[in-house]
Amino acid sequence: MGTAVSRPDATRAHQRGEVPLVATDRVFPRAETSAILGNIRWDAAKSIWWFGHAAGSVVAVTLFARWDAVAAMITLTALTICAGHSVGMHRLLIHRSFDAPLWLERVLVWLGTLVGMAGPFGMIRAHDMRDWHQRQTVCPPHPSHGAGFWRDAWWQMHCRYDLDHEPDFVIEDRVASDPFYRLVERTWMAQQLPVALLLYALGGAAWVFWGICVRVTLSLTGHWAVGYFAHRTGHQGWVVAGLPVQGYNLPGLGLLTFGENWHGNHHAFPHSARLGVEPGQRDPGFWLIRRLEALGLARSIRLPESTPPREGLTRVSAVSNPSCAPERTLS
Ligand SMILES: [Zn+2]
Ligand SMILES: [Zn+2]
Repeated sequence: MGTAVSRPDATRAHQRGEVPLVATDRVFPRAETSAILGNIRWDAAKSIWWFGHAAGSVVAVTLFARWDAVAAMITLTALTICAGHSVGMHRLLIHRSFDAPLWLERVLVWLGTLVGMAGPFGMIRAHDMRDWHQRQTVCPPHPSHGAGFWRDAWWQMHCRYDLDHEPDFVIEDRVASDPFYRLVERTWMAQQLPVALLLYALGGAAWVFWGICVRVTLSLTGHWAVGYFAHRTGHQGWVVAGLPVQGYNLPGLGLLTFGENWHGNHHAFPHSARLGVEPGQRDPGFWLIRRLEALGLARSIRLPESTPPREGLTRVSAVSNPSCAPERTLS
């Protein structure tokens, strides 16, 4: 089990080089790597992308307030966030929590790209660098969501965190050399264009402004908001002792976030395809994986009990967390 250290002590020890940086599956620190020395810089492309879609959202609301366009936006949001982001990008491409045929994996990852955050490699990197940071004994405020609400919103959606000395980052060859993923990575913003054409053909300009601009703005902002609240406080079934950043569950948001709200569980069992691991925790992303399994399109589904527990994983007692009875078992 890791040893809990207070932040100031760990910071000084890390600066003296006494606290080694741990590696993860894809992140390998070099001798000169520091997890805490870096700068938060405005990311022009990311910021203009967000403000462009926000401006398009204003156009949608003021000039094209139509229920059919809103319905198209909600449908496409559900498809891209649930099947694309949560199941395709996060649970499959990043964590390999189940197996799927390559054609299906590519479709799901493409849908995840349509969320508008990054291409497949960019998503893997953003996720894994944050995860790597959060596994060190000291985590700076950018990757830990440690700043206040508005500052963190600005940092996460409009800036990037540049380390002075980055660790090596290696994506597995099977993904890195995939020609489809390489194409989507190079053109991830332009991947909205075929969808925009389809929306225009189906419902005109109103469907384009709602189905692209409003959807992307809501998706980017919603993704940030879940990440912000899920790293600060809330319900916990487990803690990972010795780490400065913990994940928290956000009860009541299962249907809205397709299961990504069970982030405390995700910190406890990162490779589990099921995020809502306790009774009553609704997890639509996992329901989709079970449907795919029934159709013969998903197998080797990993659950919390499939892999050895994380080092330092400790059940939160019912005393400190009444909604989590200690005798409860995973189902
Ligand atoms: Zn997290
Ligand atoms: Zn993850």
